[in-house]
Amino acid sequence: RAKSAGGNRFELADPEADARAITRHGLTTALPTALERGEFFIEYQPLVHLGDGSVRGAEALVRWLHPQHGVLGPDRFIPLAEHTGLIVPLGRWVLEQSVRQAREWRELHGGVEALGPLRINVNLSPCQLTHPGLVQDTVDILERTGVAPDALCLEVTESALIGADDDLLKPLRRLAEMGVDIALDDFGTGYSNLANLRRLPVSILKLDRSFTQSMQQFPADPVDLKIVEGIVSLAHSLDLAVTVEGVETGAQAEQLRILGCDTAQGWYYARPGPPERLHELALVDATG
Ligand code: C2E
Ligand code: MG
Ligand code: MG
Ligand code: MG
Repeated sequence: RAKSAGGNRFELADPEADARAITRHGLTTALPTALERGEFFIEYQPLVHLGDGSVRGAEALVRWLHPQHGVLGPDRFIPLAEHTGLIVPLGRWVLEQSVRQAREWRELHGGVEALGPLRINVNLSPCQLTHPGLVQDTVDILERTGVAPDALCLEVTESALIGADDDLLKPLRRLAEMGVDIALDDFGTGYSNLANLRRLPVSILKLDRSFTQSMQQFPADPVDLKIVEGIVSLAHSLDLAVTVEGVETGAQAEQLRILGCDTAQGWYYARPGPPERLHELALVDATG
């Protein structure tokens, strides 16, 4: 596609970049109708207790079933939704669906004594944090569904909270006071000041996949082991639980368990999948 001479200084054609831009533009303009037409869906990935291997909950991960492009992962459209503001209604939709799903699991599992209530983790984008409706929307959703606040965990990335002032933290504090857990997602990638953790109303650290990857080799790099060990002991001394992302092998799981991590998530246990799958995994796990 030839660019008009007016606005663009670069005349050289780069077909691939152009195609990417067209898709980005196309996706961006399709986002609002996609939400109206119900093209988004949620997959759930189990969160597993490293001590006893039991399924404790799940993280909700949104996908877009695009009529032309097929299933798109969140990395393809969340940034676009953030840019246009659609992330606020989309994020609210994800929250409501996920909390409803958590209630459904609880009802399904009501008769199974060995099963505790499954918890639900939902990702929040920085734009949702600054949106004034966050606390009220969350309260409304929990009330409408009858799900207890302590069954919900909201995941906020470390980078979204770096240098956060009190105004940004206020809604999170309110939610934490209500009993909602706040998790610091992708922890260890944002170069945040560890001492800063004390200010944040978080109760869970989600250690980024890059740490898990470094546990791939056996024996793992001793420096990496020391770093994870240090993070875990600091987290525990601040009363924070540690969840690890991206566990792909049994060896990694074992290493991370020995290092004191509490909960794990990754392909080793299960890929993200439909809600029925999570239900089955939890049942098999509890009933043997
Ligand atoms: P995240 O919150 O850090 O989610 C974990 C990502 O790691 C997911 O990618 C998951 O599918 C992937 N993953 C899980 N286990 C493994 C593993 O063993 N190996 C590898 N290589 N990957 C694994 P996904 O689903 O593509 O989501 C990417 C990111 O998109 C999420 O990262 C989250 O930041 C964002 N996201 C997803 N759903 C939502 C949402 O509803 N709202 C917002 N704001 N962001 C979302
Ligand atoms: Mg997450
Ligand atoms: Mg994460
Ligand atoms: Mg991550």
